[in-house]
Amino acid sequence: MEEGGEARNPLKTIRFEVEPASTAPASITPLDPASDDTSDRFHEECAVVGIYGHSEAANLAYLGLYAMQHRGQEGSGIVSSNGKALISHRGLGLVADVFHENVIRRLVGNSAIGHNRYSTAGETVLRNTQPLVAEFSLGSLAVCHNGNFVNALETRRRLEENGSIFQSSSDTEVLVHLVAGSKRPSLIDRVIDALAQVEGAYCVLFLTEDELIAARDPHGFRPLCLGKFPNGAWVVASETCALDLVEAEYVREIEPGEVLHIRGTELHSLRPFAHVPTNACIFEYVYFARPDSNVYGRNVYGVRKEMGRQLARETLVDADIVIPVPDSGVPAALGFAEESGLPFEMGLIRNHYVGRTFIEPKDSIRNFGVKVKLNAQRDVLEGKRVIVIDDSIVRGTTSRKIVRMIRNAGAKEVHMRISAPPTISPCYFGVDTPTHGELIANNLEIEAIREYIQADSLAYLSHEGLYAFLPPETERTSKGFCDACFTRKYPVEVNHDQEARQMRLFHAMEMPPGAGRQ
Ligand code: SF4
Repeated sequence: MEEGGEARNPLKTIRFEVEPASTAPASITPLDPASDDTSDRFHEECAVVGIYGHSEAANLAYLGLYAMQHRGQEGSGIVSSNGKALISHRGLGLVADVFHENVIRRLVGNSAIGHNRYSTAGETVLRNTQPLVAEFSLGSLAVCHNGNFVNALETRRRLEENGSIFQSSSDTEVLVHLVAGSKRPSLIDRVIDALAQVEGAYCVLFLTEDELIAARDPHGFRPLCLGKFPNGAWVVASETCALDLVEAEYVREIEPGEVLHIRGTELHSLRPFAHVPTNACIFEYVYFARPDSNVYGRNVYGVRKEMGRQLARETLVDADIVIPVPDSGVPAALGFAEESGLPFEMGLIRNHYVGRTFIEPKDSIRNFGVKVKLNAQRDVLEGKRVIVIDDSIVRGTTSRKIVRMIRNAGAKEVHMRISAPPTISPCYFGVDTPTHGELIANNLEIEAIREYIQADSLAYLSHEGLYAFLPPETERTSKGFCDACFTRKYPVEVNHDQEARQMRLFHAMEMPPGAGRQ
């Protein structure tokens, strides 16, 4: 709770921090999502960071969130502890907009947790930002999490039948109620008790006045790493790029199913859950993670380059140049160019300073959303047979615009190559994706997709090729990874009714051909 707030009342079962009035600006019209190329992507749903034992905990958490802005742009929050109370600040927008110097100064204390929430086209409200702060019988508790519980709806229904009153629709609140309702004596036991009742993907951080708990789900869907500062303070973060910015030393990955409990000078690693096969999200390598991060023990840039090399081995055509769809396609395009011997060129230039809203002229510009972000270079493309490398085709609408843009810049041929297999199924593990009916590769064969995007040829990386980054002596299969969006083989049972929960971003957008088929 906010410093200076009401004193703790042991009789209260649970009480959430009151949501202040929304700070969303009223006059801004967002870019039409149907024309926004970022809407035609899978979206990682958040980043978490935790600092323990450092006098500048909130400032470092802020920098960690800043480094992981790519994992969420809707809103951001930090809760710090001064040893006696939790102090919270949350807001809508980018990290740099939410946290100003005076805000960070107010977030005093030696420990803090922070969260970036990913952007949706739907409701943008403060209550969706994290960390959540609640009061319950053991005191104050802040929680933030990255992921999705596949049994959240059932668990929520059960809790409501037993009298719990929810304030938001977030899975994180389910966890808070489970912790508050647990009969175990200590917080760490209650957290373990709560986590044992949820299934799915999560990296979750809990902060009280004097302890920090970090947990990664038993399948290890989402990444979480541990780092250390020279003064002995600890940091946990979704990606190692956060550690690099705050100059913490990378210690190790937090293992699937591991619960880290940090209190005072002690750090305990607990393995309270039954062992299950690891299913780390392969899409972190394909698109989500920053290329300069090390995820699941491997450098993302290196993995993407290897995917590009393999793509060249499998799908090379006669061409003059290789170009990426920036930025995510760059490492794979470099690998493709190296392997094929073709020149690498930046035929598309990204504008890095594009906001989320625009004032468009009255005579609207065709394909404005893509054009404002990407520009095709005629000097590079004119008269050329071009291989374009992208990491995925989700609905196909953006690829179609990109192909057209390259042709309009004078390219003789446009050959689209995708550094992952066709995306045929939604994700239920903390990633915002369209439903089966909206995924173009679920509805159409590759040749029909090619026709739709108007490319001269289209090819994807094979399923086996996706694992070419693994050393040759290992089994180059999906063992240890989740790749359900390419295979429909979900590592945990999912309730397909939950597709409705995936609809936020992709709702009411321009639909590709065949959309609606299951
Ligand atoms: S379904 Fe796809 S995006 Fe979701 S966890 Fe599995 S690999 Fe990652």
